[in-house]
Amino acid sequence: MIARVTLEIALRKEFDYAIPPELATRVDVGSRVQVPFGPRKVLGVVTAVAEESAHARLKPILKVIGAQTLVTPRVLQLARWIADYYCCAPEIALKSVLPEAVRQEEAGWRERLFVRALPVNGEFPKLPKRQLEVWHIIEERREILLTELLALAETTTSTVRRLEDRGLVALTNEISERDPYAQEHILPSQPLVLNARQAEALKRIMTAMASGADERSSREDGRRKPSTTFLLHGVTGSGKTEIYLQAIAHTLEQGKGAIVLVPEISLTPQTVERFKARFSSGKLQTLVAVLHSHLSAGERHDEWHKIRQGRARIVIGARSAIFAPVEPLGLVIVDEEHEHTYKQEEAPRYHARDVAIVRAQMEGAVVVLGSATPSLESYHNCKQGKYTLLELPERVDDQKLPYVRVVDMRQAARGGKGPPIFSPQLKEAITQRLERGEQTILFLNRRGYSTALECTQCGYVANCPNCSLTLTYHRPEQKLRCHLCGYLEPVPAVCPNEKCRNPQIRYSGLGTQKVEDVLGKLFPQARVKRMDADVMKRKEDYRKVLGDFRASKIDILIGTQMIAKGLHFPNVTLVGIIFADMALHQPDFRAGERTFQLLTQVAGRAGRGEVEGEVFVQAFTPFHPAIQFARRHDFVGFYEQEIEFREQLKYPPAARVALLTLKGRNEEKVKFSAAHVRRELDQLVVEKEEQDKRKKGAGASPMASGEKAPLLLSSAGPQPATSTAGFRDLIIAGPAPAPLLRAETFYRYQLMLRTRAMSRLSRALTFITAGLSLPEDVALTVDIDPVSLA
Ligand code: ADP
Ligand code: ZN
Repeated sequence: MIARVTLEIALRKEFDYAIPPELATRVDVGSRVQVPFGPRKVLGVVTAVAEESAHARLKPILKVIGAQTLVTPRVLQLARWIADYYCCAPEIALKSVLPEAVRQEEAGWRERLFVRALPVNGEFPKLPKRQLEVWHIIEERREILLTELLALAETTTSTVRRLEDRGLVALTNEISERDPYAQEHILPSQPLVLNARQAEALKRIMTAMASGADERSSREDGRRKPSTTFLLHGVTGSGKTEIYLQAIAHTLEQGKGAIVLVPEISLTPQTVERFKARFSSGKLQTLVAVLHSHLSAGERHDEWHKIRQGRARIVIGARSAIFAPVEPLGLVIVDEEHEHTYKQEEAPRYHARDVAIVRAQMEGAVVVLGSATPSLESYHNCKQGKYTLLELPERVDDQKLPYVRVVDMRQAARGGKGPPIFSPQLKEAITQRLERGEQTILFLNRRGYSTALECTQCGYVANCPNCSLTLTYHRPEQKLRCHLCGYLEPVPAVCPNEKCRNPQIRYSGLGTQKVEDVLGKLFPQARVKRMDADVMKRKEDYRKVLGDFRASKIDILIGTQMIAKGLHFPNVTLVGIIFADMALHQPDFRAGERTFQLLTQVAGRAGRGEVEGEVFVQAFTPFHPAIQFARRHDFVGFYEQEIEFREQLKYPPAARVALLTLKGRNEEKVKFSAAHVRRELDQLVVEKEEQDKRKKGAGASPMASGEKAPLLLSSAGPQPATSTAGFRDLIIAGPAPAPLLRAETFYRYQLMLRTRAMSRLSRALTFITAGLSLPEDVALTVDIDPVSLA
């Protein structure tokens, strides 16, 4: 028997290896193996097993990693789709479906020494006092970790070994599972009685689950596949999570498992606890595995294997948890589905929400996307009948949404020396809260003190030498810092311009440090804390500040987007958004959508308790639709006006985008290469007449729509004919300098392609980019469905 192996070194090729007889029972599709490659030993995944190979004299597989196949056939299929759709090498797609700790052979189960008491045969020996004490402890516990025993009994290993010599105890190496949540005490929770809206939503989801099985068997008779993707649109506190919990319970009853995706930042202990609490007892009891980046490699290894072994049937995690080997899979939940962190910003550049939908389709599972501010894409899919919309328009506790006031900062700036940080209205509101002993959250999505250092005489601005960005002033360290590449330099005392040397260089722009500073001057009696990436270095910092805030040891919390999500503090009755239009004028067609989402979410932090909340939104363009619709909590209104603009300009969801970025250190070369790529892409645009002509002619394009695409993992690769198939609706823009022309010393030029037929375009792009010859120091990246255009 031979095995076909995809190696981890990206070669876009597969290699055949012989399966030695002693490994025959352990090698299967999905096994991770170590094989010889030239003089090296490399790791790879078996993608096929066959009787024979076209090649003679195959080298043997050296080693199999893991007791079970690590990549299940279904996840392998998903990896193939990712390579195909996101235009990346199959090796890279495969690499991303397993956590590093599982892929590497070193990280394994942790074996630790346990001490066990043995039954005493015959007469109990006479022991020295110390040994007897230790023995009593062991006997009482029956079994105890050696390290724990040594600490508890204040003894040494040699004392324990002496007990072992007497045959009283045994020391054995055993697997000790790492449980990242071992310290938490979790009380079981019971399902709540749903309100009418929740019950209706759950019923629809359960119906889809029930029809999942029948539907698959009847698909042959050409019936249209019923929608199995739901968009649960409900404000925070409307009871979405309770629906997730009950839908999961239903999945477990059907003997299936569930994956719950949440953005990394909301993966707090409280969130995890809610899921663990519901499934910690009763007949649906199961382990809930957690996968996220704060776990140690060992913890991640153990959590993953609990899933693979079927002991954990619920997985909760960030983006990459969508690849968890849950089998059979009944339900996928994507909470806060509009979040951009679901998109991976390095190859494979997949979007976990979209991968979730594809995976669920492959496995007959149901998907529930949840959000208070859905992405335009998902809401549009509902309007098109592709997804089913479920709405929860009110909070469970009937609480009113906070009252939002927009403050026109142009007015506040009049007459003074530039705009103030706090409008008189916001200042007044903060004063009231301090008097009443209520809490305030102030939001500004920019850290640092000020955003630019400028010379008022010669116009010098301190820029990063590596990026086309101004440096941000950080006051505590007296340093200028680049927020992109981390470049750091001391603050100059005089203008660095040789000819100028003006001592009066000033800082302009605004960051959270300055808000904290000014606030301290305005309200010296207030207890203020700042929460941003500069002060929150470890996860304990985050917990500590939130704990103090909850305990009312802090009056005012200032923060960046870190505080925008999921936090629930009943005593917060005021939210101030310092500079609401900050993100509005960025060169990105999603700037309005992003602003709307952020404002809505931050505003939702106010009034979660008895007292009604109030929100002040300070803006320089107060009548911008994104701000006005957020003020009225009107998602549908925002959608209606925004979709019109997207349709006119053929931006998503009216079309899909592929963003090609060329980067290199020599700007001329990058520019030249981008122009070359443009010429290659132009062949994709086929004039209509020519298209018709070609259709009539013999040997029409073999890539007619509907034809199955070759899978990239098969050695065949895409067919040359792909490149000549025309795209009627293709729009190619660029090359143009990227909005951030220079980043980390690289110049960047971009091309943007828009079409509805993205799967076809992906295939064409894979083919075209494979045939490109670019200078060695110019790199091309392809980003399908990008979420950021910078
Ligand atoms: P969301 O996920 O939409 O923010 P949650 O599911 O967290 O909403 O619900 C908000 C709060 O209301 C939670 O404390 C939850 O326990 C409670 N809750 C949810 N559904 C019900 C219900 N049907 N009856 C009573 N309380 C509920
Ligand atoms: Zn920089």
